Amino acid sequence: MAEQMLLGCELGFKPDEKNPYFTMSTHLNTIKATYFATPLPHTAKEIRNAKNDGFTVQNLKNELAHLGLTTIFPEIQNHAELVYSEVDKRKKGSVLRTCDLFDAVEHCQLNCILERRPTFKKFLHNQNGCHRVYGFKCQECEKEKKTSEIWKTFEPVDEATEDTMSPEGKKSRDVKTSESQKKSPEASPSLQILQEHKVTQKESDEEIQKKSAEIEELKRKVEENLKIAEENEKLVSEATHLIDTIAELKKEHSKQTEKFLDQISHLEYELGMAKQASEMRSGKKKKSHTNCASNWLKTRKECPSCNGTFLNSNRN
Ligand SMILES: [Zn+2]
Ligand SMILES: [Zn+2]
Ligand SMILES: [Zn+2]
Ligand SMILES: [Zn+2]
Repeated sequence: MAEQMLLGCELGFKPDEKNPYFTMSTHLNTIKATYFATPLPHTAKEIRNAKNDGFTVQNLKNELAHLGLTTIFPEIQNHAELVYSEVDKRKKGSVLRTCDLFDAVEHCQLNCILERRPTFKKFLHNQNGCHRVYGFKCQECEKEKKTSEIWKTFEPVDEATEDTMSPEGKKSRDVKTSESQKKSPEASPSLQILQEHKVTQKESDEEIQKKSAEIEELKRKVEENLKIAEENEKLVSEATHLIDTIAELKKEHSKQTEKFLDQISHLEYELGMAKQASEMRSGKKKKSHTNCASNWLKTRKECPSCNGTFLNSNRN
């Protein structure tokens, strides 16, 4: 009977949907109709009031039995302990009140329903609602928790691989791996992934070593080139220095030549002046002594310098 009712309730539930979604109101109506159409083994009873000082786990178990829920769900009282502790944690008053008893009864039933219908479990899990059902133990959540814990134990090792080139570091990593393997044998698929991850890590380590060797080689080449360039620079600077020196020498030389030429022209000038002076002097002598000479020749037949006789002397 309860089975039929629950089957009808599965309408409109999308167990694989991981996002929130709208459901058709017709689905809700069908669920309601199915619920009311399902006959109960006995007339429904109402939850009784809790005492002023609260209620105990035993009180809850008794209430579940009193309501006839143990007939529909024979194991419902097994959920009482966990549900009770959850309700106690979340209570808003100083003591557990009737409203808390309502919650406890509801969640005990929910646990029973979920155990019967995997579709609802899946729906609850995919809609992230597992924690909403008090005392509910979701196997999917447990699996995810374990996997993430394993990943957590491996994460720091991954970070460590970068600076554990020493054999001790590798050893401690191996020890850690075997430990976590012992702890959770069910999680072998994720471990396999991790081992594959390790293999690729090794490969990339080798690649990194290769690359760094290449980089070293390049560095050496660059340094060599730099040395050559430095030497070239030295040569170039020496050459430019030489060129400068040559230019200076040329300048000096041309200055000297200019000076020399100047001196030559000065000497030429003085020579010219001297020539002119001597010419002027000899010219004056000629002019002033022409009369003396003709007068001498008129009266004398001998040379005034050597006393020799003139050859063409008509006066003889
Ligand atoms: Zn879950
Ligand atoms: Zn001069
Ligand atoms: Zn004279
Ligand atoms: Zn003479």
